[in-house]
This record gives sequence, C-alpha cells and structure tokens, in this order.
Amino acid sequence: MKFVVLTIFPELMQAFWDNGIMRRAVDAGAIAAEAVNIRDFAEGRHKVTDDRPYGGGCGMVMKPEPLAAAVRAARHKAPAAPVVLLTPQGRRFDQEMAQQLAAHPALIVVCGRYEGIDERVGEQFVDIEISIGDFVLTGGEVAAMAVMDAVTRLLPGVLGNEDSAEQDSFCHQRLDHAHYTRPPEFEGRTVPEVLLSGHHDRIIQWRRADALLRTFAKRPDLLRAGTLSAEEMALLRTWHREIERIIRSAPGSGAGSPSGGG
Ligand code: SAM
Repeated sequence: MKFVVLTIFPELMQAFWDNGIMRRAVDAGAIAAEAVNIRDFAEGRHKVTDDRPYGGGCGMVMKPEPLAAAVRAARHKAPAAPVVLLTPQGRRFDQEMAQQLAAHPALIVVCGRYEGIDERVGEQFVDIEISIGDFVLTGGEVAAMAVMDAVTRLLPGVLGNEDSAEQDSFCHQRLDHAHYTRPPEFEGRTVPEVLLSGHHDRIIQWRRADALLRTFAKRPDLLRAGTLSAEEMALLRTWHREIERIIRSAPGSGAGSPSGGG
C-alpha cells in the first residue's frame, strides 16, 4: 500500500511513519508513505496556501491552485489511487471502510486546514470523503493518521500475528473479548480461571462468550444489525432465562403476589 498525503504540515506525518507499527510496516515494505507539502505548489515569495472566503465571514479557505497542483503531482506518484479527503462532512469512518481502503494499492490523502478546501477542488479531484466522527478537528492530519493506521494494520504481514486483526473489535460485528496478562492476581483482582487452565477449547468458548457479552452490554446495535451463530443464540437464550429468573426473584418484583406477573 502506498500513501501519498497532501498536507501543509509534512513533518507531522513523518513523525507518525517513523514510529511503532507504522515504522515496522515501512521497514517491511508493507507500506510506502510520502508527504507532499501543499505549500511547495503555492506561488509567490510567501507561498500562501489560504485566502479569505468569498461572501465574507470568519476563517480562511485553502486556495484551489496549490492544492490542485499538489493532487496532480501526487497522481504522478500513485496514478490509479483514489483521492481521499478528510472532512467532518464525509462518510463516517469504520472498520468496514478500513477494509475497503486496504484493498487499494495506493491512496492519495488530502488533509484540510482552516475552514476547509475550496469547493471546486473537491468537486474536481476528490473520490472519497471521510470523517472520523461528529466533531471538528483543526486539521485533517490527525484524521488521516487514524485512517492510515486502521488500514495499515489490516495489510498482510503488518501485525506480528495474522490472527490479531481477525479477532479485533468490529471485525465480525463483535467487540473483542477481555485481555489479561501476568501476574495472575493484581491488587486483589484475579484472571478468569479458565484462561489459566491451558484448556484450548474452553478458552476459545469463554472468549466467544465474553465477546458476545461485551457487545451486548456496550454495543447492542452491532448484534441487532448482524446475524447470530447457533452458539450465540444458545448463549443469549441462557442469559435471557437467567435474567428473567433474577428479575422474578428480586424483592419488589411482584413475583408471588396475586397481581405479580410470575
Ligand atoms: N469548516 C469545516 C466544516 O465545518 O465542515 C471544518 C474545517 S476543519 C476546522 C479543518 C480541517 O480539519 C478539515 O478541512 C478537515 O480536513 C479536517 N477535519 C476536521 N474535523 C474532521 C473530522 N471529523 N474528520 C475528518 N477530518 C476532519
């Protein structure tokens, strides 16, 4: 995967690529990453990349000419790559979109600043608009990092263990199960016994059940949106019966009184 990122702060991007898993991915050749400084395409002594908005009002707008020239230069580096604009007005980024983007051999990523880019550049060059959430950042660089990070960890060979991305939250519309490491007891809290048992099948079962329980407790929308396996259905039915029993036996539940539902 090749990332060509258009920004007025290329040094921010370099720091991101120089560390952690991103660095490993670059060293392993899983990604190639390059920042294009939009300012390099600005005219004049001051290399200005922004201007006042037509119609008045506060803030500045990214000028069309330097950005268009930067996109054209990026297309020479990655000819078939879609142009992705980070914007709070884009489609909300999620794991499914990360998977779709990971299928491309290259992406050209445009980071806005100020009030955003001149609309005409968006119309002419942008293929995909992505938002990382319903909030407004000062610039697209942090959003671009989030997108590139999520995409990179899905690429073959980037994570140490091929399975780790497979088990992550959202991969199968479920949250990830709980994780523990040594020591077995920490400030009075112990690790679930099954994880210390060495019994592989029971551990897998426990993890599936824990992932389902967490998804139910924190993100029931994910369960409503997808399909349930037979194992999950059986677990949910068991929990449902247990919840009913707890409610019925709770003081004040009305159980046992003439009007109680029982
Ligand atoms: N005036 C714009 C609006 O309200 O839609 C916001 C501009 S914002 C201050 C400057 C830049 O930050 C945007 O052009 C975009 O590149 C980036 N940005 C801000 N919030 C973002 C978000 N939630 N997702 C992706 N990019 C974002």
